[in-house]
Amino acid sequence: MKIHEYQARQILTAHGIPVPAAEVVRTPEAAAEAFKTLGAPMCVVKAQVYAGGRGKAGFVKLVHSADEARAAAKFMLTHRMMSYQTGPEGVPVSVLLVAPGVEIEKEYYLGITLDRTRHTATLIASAEGGVEIEEVAKKSPEKVIKEPMHPLLGLSPFQARAVAFKLGFSGKFVGEAAKIMINLAKAFIETDASLAEINPLVLTKDGKIQAIDAKFNFDDNALYRHADLAAMADESQERPLDVRARKANLNYIALDGNIGCLVNGAGLAMATMDIVKLYGAEPANFLDVGGSVTAEGAVEAFRIILSDPKVKGILVNIFGGIAKCDLIAEALVAAGKEVGFKIPVVVRLEGTNVEQARKILAAAHSQMPTLATATDLTDAAKKVCAAVA
Ligand code: ADP
Ligand code: MG
Repeated sequence: MKIHEYQARQILTAHGIPVPAAEVVRTPEAAAEAFKTLGAPMCVVKAQVYAGGRGKAGFVKLVHSADEARAAAKFMLTHRMMSYQTGPEGVPVSVLLVAPGVEIEKEYYLGITLDRTRHTATLIASAEGGVEIEEVAKKSPEKVIKEPMHPLLGLSPFQARAVAFKLGFSGKFVGEAAKIMINLAKAFIETDASLAEINPLVLTKDGKIQAIDAKFNFDDNALYRHADLAAMADESQERPLDVRARKANLNYIALDGNIGCLVNGAGLAMATMDIVKLYGAEPANFLDVGGSVTAEGAVEAFRIILSDPKVKGILVNIFGGIAKCDLIAEALVAAGKEVGFKIPVVVRLEGTNVEQARKILAAAHSQMPTLATATDLTDAAKKVCAAVA
């Protein structure tokens, strides 16, 4: 799960990391008011969205008056933000942050995420922080410092100080920067984060270290023990189909192809996508309806697949175990009656109650001529790929 920058700033503040005061606003008028309240000679107006790359997209704007703040806010609130992180459809903007502008001496990058090869969380730091950090990582990886954290002890003070020296800090800044790293590591662990990032951490011209952007992602599987974080979710930032799928307990990921896949089990869903590709087509989605899917869940799964206009055929691949084949067959027929299968739907069922399931599907065939059954997975993949070719 993601949260907005203004919420991530609250976590940093609660962990003793210096973050300049700012105002959260939702209208151009409130942005103008915030400029006056903050009383700084210049401010930044920042779109609050679940994506980075705002600076380059024109959604972090330096303003020098209340009028400029109002105009910047008006632009952001009436345009979707599009960056390399959003895809061409962009994301809507309904909340803004107005923060005092700071005179930046130098921008640093600090982040903590899981390093899967080392099996532990790792601090990532660079003295070349800011909006070009992806380029730095690509072109000069030697400028990116990685410091693995002990799984039980977290980030030790000696590690944080070593990184602070490598970043080029000296004098009192070594201790200050090290403290920020240690506190960021604590915040990462305490919130069950999968990413905790400050980019940029800045050294200001008047000699202060401050976090002026903040990003946290959390492990969804740990959200049950963080009701306060779960409550921060902003569904307007997610794709509508993703929200619907989550509410129906479906693991759904939209892809670019034209064959919708409805499968039970993540491994089987991966194998189904592989076999679709093997026979020359592309999957439109990954969809694991789970082992204990209900009839309503399966119907909702069909609705979600069919609401993607790219989908030209559907491959249903179910190994009936906990969810028995006859339940799936009934759900299929119910979905067909409700949404109407105007495109080919090829069904491969195996497992518990498969005989009853075949009877249910055979009986429905006269009403649903686009519904076809397959003898096995290869047959199913060939049939659905041929149908969309
Ligand atoms: P994003 O990472 O989405 O592009 P940031 O908040 O990091 O957004 O802002 C992008 C850049 O804008 C920063 O790297 C910094 O140079 C500048 N910036 C952001 N906030 C401020 C601020 N309060 N004062 C001065 N410059 C800022
Ligand atoms: Mg940033």
